[in-house]
Amino acid sequence: MNSKEIENYLDFLFVNPRCELNYTKDYELLIAVVLSAQTTDKRVNMVTSILFDKYNTLEKLRDADIEDIINIIRPIGTFNKKSIFVKKIASFLLDNCDGKVPNDESILIKIPGVGRKTSNVVRSNLFNYPAIAVDTHVNRVSKRLNIANEKDDVLIVEKKLMKYFPKKSWSKLHHQMVLFGRYYCTSNKPKCEECKLNNICKYYIKNIKK
Ligand code: SF4
Repeated sequence: MNSKEIENYLDFLFVNPRCELNYTKDYELLIAVVLSAQTTDKRVNMVTSILFDKYNTLEKLRDADIEDIINIIRPIGTFNKKSIFVKKIASFLLDNCDGKVPNDESILIKIPGVGRKTSNVVRSNLFNYPAIAVDTHVNRVSKRLNIANEKDDVLIVEKKLMKYFPKKSWSKLHHQMVLFGRYYCTSNKPKCEECKLNNICKYYIKNIKK
């Protein structure tokens, strides 16, 4: 099976893949992605609907009482660290970027809480920048499908994915692989019997087929 067949299958499963984080402003996406570390998009959407409603500008987020932010985002965990990030992101964008999220990784990764994965997700969604952000789902799926090796770190996985798939598909594939990992190729009990990729899947051949 080549990359095109994998793409075709993911196109079949996810016709119009999109980010499942809710946002209406550029900075809301950036903050939502930072908040999504080690939790689910569903939980993030629950807290951001309250947070972004109550503090509906960057200035209000920057000036918000941190205890109030903590109380709002408590359900997503690591709320002390994340509440600091929320205020620092708002300050950084106001002080350095005219209140706009920049389409520039070298600036984005200077923002507290933002690394390459977040930068890729944000640039891909806001600016249609071709990127494959490697989160836990993309990482797992890539390794099971033998596109990357078990020991590869996320940067190596990203490079291998960019080599394996055509550039024009990167952003769409990122969303599709996230959704595939979230709903089909789950960490526990993946839906292998119905998966059309099981003939090339290391996990299936090792754990299920035998
Ligand atoms: S066969 Fe199972 S583990 Fe392999 S890609 Fe499909 S769902 Fe994932």
